[in-house]
Formats: sequence, C-alpha cells, structure tokens
Amino acid sequence: MLLDAPGRPLRLAEVADPEPMPGQLLVEVHACGVCRTDLHLVDGELEITDSPRILGHQIVGTVAGSDRRVGIPWLGWTCGECRFCRSGRENLCDRARFTGRDIDGGFAELTVADARFCFDLPAGSPDVQAAPLLCAGLIGHRALRLAGDPACLGLYGFGAAAHIVCQVAVAEGRRVFAFTRPGDSASQAFARQLGAEWAGDTEDSAPEPLDAAIIFAPAGELVPTALRLTAKGGTVVCAGIHMSDIPSFPYRDLWGERTLRSVANLTRADGEALLALAPTIPIRTHVSTYPLEGANDALDDLRAGRIEGAAVIDLERAVDDPKGIRSLGPP
Ligand SMILES: [Zn+2]
Ligand SMILES: [Zn+2]
Repeated sequence: MLLDAPGRPLRLAEVADPEPMPGQLLVEVHACGVCRTDLHLVDGELEITDSPRILGHQIVGTVAGSDRRVGIPWLGWTCGECRFCRSGRENLCDRARFTGRDIDGGFAELTVADARFCFDLPAGSPDVQAAPLLCAGLIGHRALRLAGDPACLGLYGFGAAAHIVCQVAVAEGRRVFAFTRPGDSASQAFARQLGAEWAGDTEDSAPEPLDAAIIFAPAGELVPTALRLTAKGGTVVCAGIHMSDIPSFPYRDLWGERTLRSVANLTRADGEALLALAPTIPIRTHVSTYPLEGANDALDDLRAGRIEGAAVIDLERAVDDPKGIRSLGPP
C-alpha cells in the first residue's frame, strides 16, 4: 500500500520485492499496527522524504526462510556518532531514519530492516496483538517513565497507546484517570474495563489532583487543561509526534515546579524494557484487524475515533473477510 503524496489515499500496487543490503533482514510481514503518526503522514502534517512510500512502523514478522519472529519499530537507523547517539539518546539522533517514513515500512507483504534495530519476539502473544506494542506500547511506556513516579496519573486520549500504558500503570499500583473526547462513553467504559479508576470528558475535573498527565491526543488545548489539574511538582508529558498549537496560559498554572515536556521516538533500550515487561503484567492489547487492502479503512476509522484499542493490518487476513474486532487478550 503506497503513499504517493499527502492527502491521497494509499494505493494498492505490486512492487518489486525489497532486497536486503548487508546488515539488513528480509522480513515476511505478518501484522503491522496502524499509528496516529501514519495519519499525520497521510494528512501532510509530517513530511515524508521520498514518495511513493510504504508506511507502517509496528511490524511483526518472520525473517524470510526462518521461523525467527521479529518486531520492527519506528526507529529504523541512527548514526551512532552524533552527540545524542553518544550519550544514550539515540531517539534524538540528528540523522535518524524512521521506519515507514524514511524507510519503507510494514503495510506490505515483505520489508527489509536493519538487524540492529529489530527486536526478537519470542513466541507468545499472537502477531496482531504484539504489533501495537512496537509504537503505541513503546511511546506510552517511555512517556510513563518520564512522568516520574505518579500515584495519580491522568491519560488524555484513550487510544492505542493509552490502553497499553493504563495496564502497565495499574499493575504498578498507580491510580489512573482517563480523559476522552466529550461524550465518548464507549472509550470511557473501555478505560474502566482496563483498570482506570475514573473516566470522563477532557473538560471534566479529575477526582484528585494529578501527579502526572500524559497527553496522547494531538490537541494542544489539552496542555493547559492538564496543567491545571496537575499538582505542584507534577509533570505533563506530550506523547504525540504532532500537536495543534498550544494556547497561551497563565504562568501560575506552570508555577509550583510543574514540568511540561515532550517524548520523542524511542531508544532500543525502551523497546527491550517494554518487551520484557509485557508478558509479566501481562499486557493484553485489544485490536481491530484489517486486511492489507483495508489500510485506508483502518486510517479512516482511526481518524474518526472508531477504534477501540489499536488498529492492525493483518497480512494473514483474506481480503473479503469483513472487518471485525478480536477479543481482548489471549485466552
Ligand atoms: Zn546520531
Ligand atoms: Zn507510531
């Protein structure tokens, strides 16, 4: 499924099989998660370097000719030389290349990836349920780690990332308050089902002051909203790659040693940490699956907020199979 230019739907096409270069793996894609970043790329809010481009950066597949299962994340390559790479911050590499933006990704039957940036995925959760861990899970987890040690955690936007980080936070004994689009009672019920103590509208006040808030929704107006509900010394983390402008707000809402920060990309260490943690909780992702040819449907459903949990392209799925929801978690 090719992105020819921003603003156009992805186009189904037959292209030559990718050829692995030295150090790269040829991977048969089994599943690929759909991320809000893909929507930003399709909508032109983030730039693609080359077109046509195959999107998709939450890839689960097997190395061609073997049964070695691997996960391919957003961080596809780093220089290893810049001041960020040399200080354990490869997520900020000046020359980083990202899967499904600078490198062809996983909305395809085959892909190639730098072996050093692939994660080994031992047998365990089904491919379609493992896929959302590779971006939604990783970014959510990095955001949670950078939020400090909050007893009360607010999550703004209860999509793919929040539904995973909620499970981690609850398992760590944190109280989770979920904020969704006003009136989205289905997402609020979903959040409660996953252990959130309270769920309500973004306009609502939390039952307790927040020690930290993570904003997954790409809406800048949530920044002052979340800061107002955050206690002194608390942290507000913006976890999206793109956000609308943040309206101005009075300094007193930041005063009191509140921290406002963003989270960018991931490091390989983040991936290893989350993938080791996932089976111990265990994280159970809730996915809606689509055939490869249904990638535009998946993007439309994501844009319209019709997805509960994560949208995943299932390469094993027949084209004429109607779209549907897989149940929560493995049996
Ligand atoms: Zn670098
Ligand atoms: Zn992503």
